[in-house]
Amino acid sequence: VAVVTGSNKGIGFAIVEQLCKQLGSSWAVYLTSRDKARGADALSQLKKRGVEPRFHQLDIDSQESVDRLAAYLKGTYGGLDILVNNAAIAYKGDSTAPFAEQAEVTIATNFWNTLRVCDALFPLLKPHARVVHLCSSVSDMALNKASPELQKKLTQPMSLDEVKQLMSDFVARAKAGTVQEAGWPQTAYGVSKVGVRLMTYAQARDIKGDDIVINCCCPGYVDTDMTSHKGPKTIYEGADTPVYLATLPPGIKEPIGEHLYERKVVPWAVKPGFTIA
Ligand code: NDP
Repeated sequence: VAVVTGSNKGIGFAIVEQLCKQLGSSWAVYLTSRDKARGADALSQLKKRGVEPRFHQLDIDSQESVDRLAAYLKGTYGGLDILVNNAAIAYKGDSTAPFAEQAEVTIATNFWNTLRVCDALFPLLKPHARVVHLCSSVSDMALNKASPELQKKLTQPMSLDEVKQLMSDFVARAKAGTVQEAGWPQTAYGVSKVGVRLMTYAQARDIKGDDIVINCCCPGYVDTDMTSHKGPKTIYEGADTPVYLATLPPGIKEPIGEHLYERKVVPWAVKPGFTIA
């Protein structure tokens, strides 16, 4: 059983299509969408493309919705084999929303509510389960732009509780207008993906279970609504690394607890002059 969050469009849609094609009809691959009508539309588009995933409503911003999916998976299948945390939001560069609001809302969906999905679904992960979080190379950019003190802190191994504290502090700083004094770059989306990256490292260290592998990745700069269709990659190119990580074979020794770009591990380290390829 495979579940892809936020998969009614964009990269998540392509991940569902590729998982259906690669895994075959013995798998139940779930396209999920917070809006049932958008989910139904995506299913009919995929049917025309020759694949028929299952559907379940999922709004990661709603605890009730996440709990309903968890109960359904437990009751129907007794667990889960693949989880792709793809759902996320980004304010547009020209948004006039106050930075405090952008920080709170973006960190809520991209960090806290991705974590909420993990909290609900990790207990259901079966042996050899694969978990993939959609992160981003903007996490490297945010690290590179942080103050030297903050860079030092961010690159030490951190517990999940410390990562949570870091994200709470960032939002509190955003509300107080003191993000830069604390050494952070002024990017809510970038910091949310720093949170996802550090969450991946912490979860991979902590996870108990038989051969459960957690990684995160950057899909590249992809032609989707999120990028206002400015990215050069197709959604299928963007889906390549997430699908690779979601289908890592049993007993794999690496990558485990890593961030990948184009199927290659990207170390979490300050890289002066880092820019997104
Ligand atoms: P899109 O904006 O095209 O799609 C995002 C998807 O997430 C949509 O299906 C959206 O649903 C869903 N979503 C948003 N909020 C929620 C929520 N609360 N609950 C459930 N679903 C939700 O984004 P992309 O396809 O471009 O991005 C996919 C992932 O890849 C994201 O994690 C993004 O950060 C990451 N990424 C993308 C890059 C790019 O170049 N595109 C680069 C680096 C990383 P709805 O249609 O209802 O809004």
